Amino acid sequence: MALKIWLGDKLVDESEAKISVFDHGLLYGDGVFEGIRVYNGKLFELEAHLARLYGSAKTLRLEIPMDREELAKATEQTVEANKIVDGYIRLVITRGVGTLGLNPFLCKEGRIIIIASSIQLYPEELYETGMKVISAATLRNHPLSVPPQIKSLNYLNNIIAKIEAIDSGVPEAIMYNHQGYVAEATGDNVFVVRDGIIYTPPNQAGSLPGITQKVVVKLAKQEGLEVVEKNLTRVDLYISDELFLTGTAAEVIGVVQMDGRIIGDGKPGPTTKLLREKFFEYVHTHCA
Ligand code: PMP
Repeated sequence: MALKIWLGDKLVDESEAKISVFDHGLLYGDGVFEGIRVYNGKLFELEAHLARLYGSAKTLRLEIPMDREELAKATEQTVEANKIVDGYIRLVITRGVGTLGLNPFLCKEGRIIIIASSIQLYPEELYETGMKVISAATLRNHPLSVPPQIKSLNYLNNIIAKIEAIDSGVPEAIMYNHQGYVAEATGDNVFVVRDGIIYTPPNQAGSLPGITQKVVVKLAKQEGLEVVEKNLTRVDLYISDELFLTGTAAEVIGVVQMDGRIIGDGKPGPTTKLLREKFFEYVHTHCA
């Protein structure tokens, strides 16, 4: 079924949802975005996603031509127009139409695109069996380059790392920062469990401040588990009892093999399973 897409200031048919070849989002990857889940017809953690979006835009001095409330309404309208009950929303703000030069301030106005559809990153059985990952040779962006803390339309580092993973026959890659510490996976945050303590790298190590990561940290603490933000090395991951990833699209998924080393006992561990379960309980109470 053809979708209704929010483009600029209104909903249009998918076939009409076209943008200019002069849009700097296309010419230079100049723009920001969010991926948001819809559970039971409700937008999950919408406020947190909007806060991150406006923060990303502020960093790039990109003005979003709607305030937060209007953008929230437009997003809700797009969900309703497409009758999405369980799905995935892609909210994109491009720099808009400009010249062939780099200067972003010659672009007329930021362009809002909202797509309400669905996503399945990994096959269902991977959540039961756990997945394999590799270490990417490609580094996560240096904090003084395209900042890893913002969700910009420039994902090439992560795409190159994803290609490394696919070429190695696994679905995901762990990315390191310029200091050799774990940053994140190509589209997910990283957690390990060792001797009953949960560790996740600080966002300053080069990860996007994950909204799922934040929810999972909160839920772990509610379960009385200790959570420590700490720089992690490749070895910390190899010798962990459990390794798992979190993200809007991936939710919570166990990793059971990394660079050919079996993690824990080779199955998603009890903490991973508990937090996955608690995550869905949380989702269902917040999207009732
Ligand atoms: N890191 C990167 C690079 C991402 O693109 C994402 C979102 N897919 C995440 C981490 C996870 O963030 P969130 O839980 O907010 O989706």
